[in-house]
Amino acid sequence: MKVTVDQDKCVSSGQCVLNASEVFDQRDEDGVVVLLESEPGPDQIDNARRAAAACPALAIEIHD
Ligand code: SF4
Repeated sequence: MKVTVDQDKCVSSGQCVLNASEVFDQRDEDGVVVLLESEPGPDQIDNARRAAAACPALAIEIHD
């Protein structure tokens, strides 16, 4: 499983970090998403999927 983010789409809502803080972070200056882990381990896969589903901007893609 691979995760990608589109920082141009991100609206800094923070849902990704709430759902998967080991996979996503937000930039201090504007809250835009930062990808911490592009290939989450087994223990983070469900969280990453939840984050993608929760993102209001559809800025997170999951590639199986
Ligand atoms: S949930 Fe989506 S819009 Fe919100 S900070 Fe994360 S990537 Fe950006």
